[in-house]
Amino acid sequence: MKRYRRIETQLIHAGGPQPRIEGAVVMPIFQSANFEYAGESSYHDLKYIRLNNTPNHLALHRLLAAVENASAALVTASGMAAISTTLLTALADGGHLLAQDCLYGGTHDLLTRELPRLGMACTFISGDEPRSWAAALRPDTRAIYVEAMTNPLLEVADLRAVVRFARAHNLLAIIDNTFATPINFRPIEAGFDLVVHSATKYLNGHSDIVGGAIIGAPELIEPITHRLNHMGGSMDPHAAFLLQRGMKTLALRVRQQNQSALQIARFLEAHPAVAGVNYPGLESHPQHQRARELFTGFGGMLSFELQGASSQAEQFMQRTTIPILAPSLGGVETLLTVPARTSHAGLAPAERHRLGISDGLVRMSVGIEATDELLEDLAQALDGISLGRAQQTG
Ligand code: PLP
Repeated sequence: MKRYRRIETQLIHAGGPQPRIEGAVVMPIFQSANFEYAGESSYHDLKYIRLNNTPNHLALHRLLAAVENASAALVTASGMAAISTTLLTALADGGHLLAQDCLYGGTHDLLTRELPRLGMACTFISGDEPRSWAAALRPDTRAIYVEAMTNPLLEVADLRAVVRFARAHNLLAIIDNTFATPINFRPIEAGFDLVVHSATKYLNGHSDIVGGAIIGAPELIEPITHRLNHMGGSMDPHAAFLLQRGMKTLALRVRQQNQSALQIARFLEAHPAVAGVNYPGLESHPQHQRARELFTGFGGMLSFELQGASSQAEQFMQRTTIPILAPSLGGVETLLTVPARTSHAGLAPAERHRLGISDGLVRMSVGIEATDELLEDLAQALDGISLGRAQQTG
């Protein structure tokens, strides 16, 4: 397979079949559930749609491995399928996990509700306090799990300490790189063992599929593949085709989103109706220096709180005209949501508040619309609520 040096080139060319199939410039969709028996000796090598090994799956595996600078990858039916299958494999036989305390709500629920039922345990740790981690270790601890930038508070854990700690204690270092994307951060280069993604978000980028990915060394990906084959969370070839298509523009989209989100975060931080903004690119972010050292861009996600009651968030969102009020993230369109009611609704209110996710926190996934038009729209929505408040109090 030809290797490409730069991620922009890899996104267009890496992983494609050589020679091209019938000369097709675009990888065709292999909408076939089964393939002729060609003498395979293992069940896992038979070509069958659930075994994630149709030509569309294999092309994506090569592409994902190339862009994350790893040697193997596996696509899955969803981000949660990637996370659950990875953890079920890493913690097989009832192991224990150390996990960052502020995570995507679905992952948090998996760790707290599902894993204990299967005889696996998890202890939450603060990503910012490496000195406290050793006290949480148990003889059966197998892995440490973090997000590159947390959902929805955009915290940046001490990722270099995570890798050092994992090496020192013989743990697998696993990271959800969904928010950063390989454009801004390549965890394998930083020493992580396994990278998981919700490909539903930035990798695909068009809000029209659900998918996931797991990336790492072949000896780690192989047992996860076997487990996925048994659990059944395989990606549909049509979704694989769309994901490959979406990934071609990942670098262009994410760089635009990095720039736009930074401008929007700066604008929001300076606005009197805004109480606080969480964005790792702001000098005021508590882990800004760390984010500068780790990432080449700060991503397209930010969250913020408005002055006054949490109901202000709803009023503000209703006054915007460009963003779509919807959960999920990472698409070309700007989205606004209140995590307490969507992505993190599964957490008990006390737990959400302990983590710093207030009922009025607004999360924004910045799309690729014109930045000045987004800024104008946010300004009129914020001025509208400030005016409303002044009239009420005046
Ligand atoms: N990881 C992160 C950071 C997410 O935000 C999400 C979904 O919102 C997931 C994983 C789960 O991905 P999916 O919805 O594709 O299962």
